[in-house]
Amino acid sequence: MNNSLHNFPIPSNEPILDYLEGSQERVELEKELKRQSEIVVEIPLVIGGKEIFTNDTGKVVMPHNHKHILANYHKAGEREIKMAIDAAVDSHKIWSDLNWTTRASIMLKIAELLTVKYRALINAATMLGQSKNIYQSEIDAVCETADFLRFNVYFASEIYKTQPISSFNQLNRMEYRALEGFVFSVSPFNFTSIASNLNLSPVMMGNTTVWKPATTALLSNYYLMKIFLEAGVPPGVVNFIPGSGALIGKEVLKSPHLAGIHFTGSNATFNSLWRQVGEKLTTYRSYPRVVGETGGKDFIFVHPSANVTEVAVAAYSGAFEYQGQKCSAASRAYIPRSLWEEFKKEIIKISESTKMGDVSESDNFVNAVIDKASFDNIASYIKKAQSSNEAEIIFGGEYDDSKGFFVKPTLIHTTNPHFSTMEEEIFGPVLTAYVYEDDQIEQTLDLCDTTSPYGLTGAVFGQDRVAVAGICNRLRYAAGNFYINDKPTGAVVGKQPFGGSRGSGTNDKAGGVFNLIRWVSPRTVKETFIPPIDIRYGYMKKRSSKS
Ligand code: NAD
Repeated sequence: MNNSLHNFPIPSNEPILDYLEGSQERVELEKELKRQSEIVVEIPLVIGGKEIFTNDTGKVVMPHNHKHILANYHKAGEREIKMAIDAAVDSHKIWSDLNWTTRASIMLKIAELLTVKYRALINAATMLGQSKNIYQSEIDAVCETADFLRFNVYFASEIYKTQPISSFNQLNRMEYRALEGFVFSVSPFNFTSIASNLNLSPVMMGNTTVWKPATTALLSNYYLMKIFLEAGVPPGVVNFIPGSGALIGKEVLKSPHLAGIHFTGSNATFNSLWRQVGEKLTTYRSYPRVVGETGGKDFIFVHPSANVTEVAVAAYSGAFEYQGQKCSAASRAYIPRSLWEEFKKEIIKISESTKMGDVSESDNFVNAVIDKASFDNIASYIKKAQSSNEAEIIFGGEYDDSKGFFVKPTLIHTTNPHFSTMEEEIFGPVLTAYVYEDDQIEQTLDLCDTTSPYGLTGAVFGQDRVAVAGICNRLRYAAGNFYINDKPTGAVVGKQPFGGSRGSGTNDKAGGVFNLIRWVSPRTVKETFIPPIDIRYGYMKKRSSKS
């Protein structure tokens, strides 16, 4: 019997490989990209560890070459959704009863498989299926996925060892039970790491999941599922059911065993899930934990003391890397009049030095947006700017979906701080700048704070440290992740715990204690060594005649 109390130290972040031409990792990745481009994968449902083919299928294509089919996927119907719920409920006992160090070792094994054996596979699937370039895929599919796993193990050990005070006559213990029931994990297309973590953070704490992956991320997500099983996640602990979100959501939320929702995606979807839970509240065994990270309208606020080159580089990468499809992507900038011309010159220069195209050509800085619906939505915002007398396109403004869903990085200058592209989440490569008068900083900070319903990420640039500290205070609720002299994207697990409030979600900070704590329902156990044998308190008793 293993009775050790294992101490998991703080891990390091997974190193980002360089993929220089001729390097071993580059050769392996190119081979894998070629292999995956030449096959069509059949993606089944995986329920109770078994692959299920429903023959109600859809297609997974390359966003940058949408005629190229990467996979056919099988969709869950009502029957399979019920099977997935049953499998998650049935496997709860064995998984939640398992010694937590065994669960931890399985999580660490997944990280090892991903970073060593399957690094090229998961990168190639993410690059081809979600249109990420090498760097964007490496920091997501490999490094962040592994970081979530390794840091969650460490943070779980910190939670488990947090125990209440005992005294001479009593021993008090806190038992961190898994939630009673299953967790519904609903993942977005834009991060392979998030898809993994939405399942595995509840799973680390002893829960089982029903997983609704995003259709446009199915290739990488299916490989994740296979790796989970290979690492030893028992059948039924994670149940993978692609298909219609609306149908799966409706059926899953009917189950009285729903113990939690772990969601990342748009506000519309999250609001609909929360509303449905509210309507069915009395039918559940427990109050479901509802954890969701949603949209953003992330800002860069530039103080007149800022270094313009630093601002231009941060604005370009913060707004346009992965085609602006990061919830943290900069999408509005407030620039003082005194720096505007110089900023414009610098950022135009950068835009002229970057290329757009296929993920397999390594010199492309930007690739395609995820699908036709997203392409059309982004194009509609660009058209609005092109036809408005309150906006001017500084660069970009072109889009073409004949081969892939390509939208050129676009900078809009608006004279209206409430122009729709300053307020609404576009989720594409569009940055809008509002130029403010240098003596109007206070009013502009008000605008920045109140313009959008979100509160996800934001950055301030400036060399005047007193002014920057004031802005940091003034914008306290405008962002859950706030950056000083840095772009508002690129949070690293363990270093910048991620999440925002207001309309951006429940701010439970993925990859940390705050998130993991949502997946346990603690039981306090008090044991008394010598229980009282008299009901009366001391003051009720008569003093004896001797005293
Ligand atoms: P989405 O809401 O369209 O989809 C997310 C998931 O929900 C998908 O799996 C989808 O199939 C599913 N879904 C859709 N309708 C459903 C329903 N009625 N019931 C159950 N599931 C349903 O989001 P997306 O386009 O995949 O992702 C982009 C959004 O995600 C953006 O708004 C972005 O800001 C947000 N996001 C936020 C964070 C964060 O940490 N705050 C991180 C990444 C992405």
